Parts: sequence; structure tokens; C-alpha cells
Amino acid sequence: MRQLITAAQLLPGPAGQQIEDGALLLEEDTIVAVGPRIDVEAHAGERVRRSHFPNHTILPGLINCHVHLALDAGSDPLENYLATDDDDLLLGMTGRAQQAARSGITTLRDLGDRRGLAFRLRDAIARGDLRGPRILAAGSPLTIPRGHCHFFGGEVSGEREIRQHIHDMAERGADVIKVMASGGHITPDSPPMWATQFSADELRIIAEEAANVGLPVAAHAHGSDAIAAAVDAGVSTIEHCTWLQNGGGGYDQRDDVAKRMASQGIYACIAWPPDWRGFMDRLGPERAEKIVERFLWMDELGIRLIPGTDAGLRDTRFDDYVNALELYAHVGFSNGRIIEMATVTSAEALGVGDSVGQLLPGYSADIVVVEGDPLLNLSSLSQIELVLVKGEYMAGSGTASKSFDA
Ligand SMILES: [Zn+2]
Repeated sequence: MRQLITAAQLLPGPAGQQIEDGALLLEEDTIVAVGPRIDVEAHAGERVRRSHFPNHTILPGLINCHVHLALDAGSDPLENYLATDDDDLLLGMTGRAQQAARSGITTLRDLGDRRGLAFRLRDAIARGDLRGPRILAAGSPLTIPRGHCHFFGGEVSGEREIRQHIHDMAERGADVIKVMASGGHITPDSPPMWATQFSADELRIIAEEAANVGLPVAAHAHGSDAIAAAVDAGVSTIEHCTWLQNGGGGYDQRDDVAKRMASQGIYACIAWPPDWRGFMDRLGPERAEKIVERFLWMDELGIRLIPGTDAGLRDTRFDDYVNALELYAHVGFSNGRIIEMATVTSAEALGVGDSVGQLLPGYSADIVVVEGDPLLNLSSLSQIELVLVKGEYMAGSGTASKSFDA
């Protein structure tokens, strides 16, 4: 049966677009019509299920571009991960994916787990065995022996192993190839964050082999050398993109690399957690200000920023996206722009922009209804009234009490 959802406001996705007294007409898993209520109602026909949300906003489901479902977001995710067998881990991942979906995240990109568990979860949801968000998954990220996140099972050494691993991931159904181009901070005895793990040649081989199997590359890179090598290799997204100088201790913002990154259309997925304020406090006001300036520098040079949270890491929950998004309000972006980043821009970056991330006829019925106006108050994104993924009810109190069949 068709479904007509009406609300005080509808945001199709792109910044600057808003429809007062808006409506959305759905048929099964697809959006059929979008626009002012008076127009859409005229098309709705007789047999339609109606839901009206008088003080609410309809918008596209949110996209979190960087999570790790295999990590439990507790006080010691790594210990828990290592102590949990695959069956129990998959159950935990299922719960966390559903938690994300109930909070309005209808698409998430998982950038590292083990033995293809996220592929299995993705496929079970796609088959309809489980309800949950749309998942794009990388599987085991390429890393060097004992390198950053080696516990995900993606250690490779030399060209042959690199190409073999990428083939394995593609065969198992990876949506993206993830590479740990630099060190990180959660793996004991691995290279420091600023250090480059793969040579420029190896990164080129990774991008080439990924292209051979038709997949984009997401490169984790904190150090400026690793960022430069990833840009030269032609990856799709750079995760974190911290611009740490060689040897650590400061930043090394390179205009030439940033400009090439922008002109090649490579996205920066910042992946800062909801508790970014605590992080800024620990750095102190001077360094915190430098970070804000770095975001603005990337933006001004034309690098497209996409949000993520690294959910799964310590105290980084899957259902607290709004606090993470407030980082961009702190940087100075408008709420409309932030919503665009978490919907339209993220969908484009993930290669699903032709069916997800906007409210347009023909697009997937991935929809969130929130109380209030997120353009005025971003925290209204946490006042969830309804979440649909491909037209399937995920969360909310709205439909049962406010809908009626006509
Ligand atoms: Zn990560």
C-alpha cells in the first residue's frame, strides 16, 4: 500500500532547499513523489496510508561514513573484540547496527572488521531476514605485519599479498577496500599515528588492484606523507585526514596536496567521535583553534568533508550522531550544510548518490522524521519520531498513533 507522510517541513537534502507543509509519497521501498502537501496529496489516490507530523521535519536518513560494528563502544572495545567468538560478535554487531538505525542512521559504512562478518550482516539485512540499516562494508583493512588494526586480519607484505588480499575481499563481497596508510592509536606496539605504513608505490598498487575489481579505496591517513601518497595513488576517501607532520608533535598542512585532493574529488572523512569537546579540552584552546582552522582550510581549498564517528571505539556509541555533527557547527557551518554533508555529500562519497541521501522520486525510502526544526536547532535530529529504511519501519512512536487509512 502507498504511504503518504506529511509534516510541517520537509528537507530534501541539499542545503538551501526546504519545503514548508511538505509531503512524501512512498510505494513499498521507493519514494514516488515529494513536494508541497497540496500537490503530493493530489497524486496520492484513494488507497493510501497517511501519517501526519504537525510539528516535525521530514529529511533523508542520515549516513555515518565511518564505523566499526565489530567494536562494542565500551570501556575496552579491543579486549572485548579479542575475547568474543565470531557468532557472538555477529550478534553484537547486529544489535549495534539496529541501534544506529533507530537513531536515524539509515546507511553506515563499516571500515574494518574480521572474517567478513559485516558482509554477512549486510546480506542478512538486504535479504530481509533482519531489520537494520543499509551497510557498506570493507571487511579486513590492509595493514602491514603487526601494523595498525592488524587484529582485523588484513596483514599483507609485498605486492603479491596486497593483490591477493584485495581479490579475497572483492570475492567475499566488499563494497570498498580499506587501507591503513598510516599508523593509528588503538593498536599496541604498532607504528605511531604520523608514520606511513605503505610506500607510495604500494598505495598505487592497492588503488590499481581495487580499480581492477571495481572497488573504491578508503585510506586511513593521519600523517601528511601518508595523505600525499594516498592522493597520488587516487583513493576515494581519506579517513581522519589529520595532516600530522613527520615525527609527530605538530601539523603539516600542504596546500599543493590539499588542492590536488580537491581537484581529484577525494573526500575527507573526519571521523571525530561525539565527545570531540572533551578531546578539544584536553588539547587546550590554542591547539583546538588550530584544528578548527584546519577544517576551514580544507573547506576553503574545496575538499569535500564527510562526517563519520569511528563508532565502536571507546565510549563512541552508534546512536549519538548528533553530538558528532555539532563539531561542524562549532567550526562554523550552517545546520543546512551539516545536514547536506550527512546525507547528500556522504551518499555521493560512498558511491550511492543515485539512490540514497536525498528525498527525490525514484530514490530509496530511507527517511527520518524528527520533532522540531533541525535548521534552527541541530539537536532536534535526536528527537526521532520515525525511521524508515527502504520503507521498512525501524523506529519511532509516530506511525501507530498518528496514521490512519483512508
Ligand atoms: Zn576507524
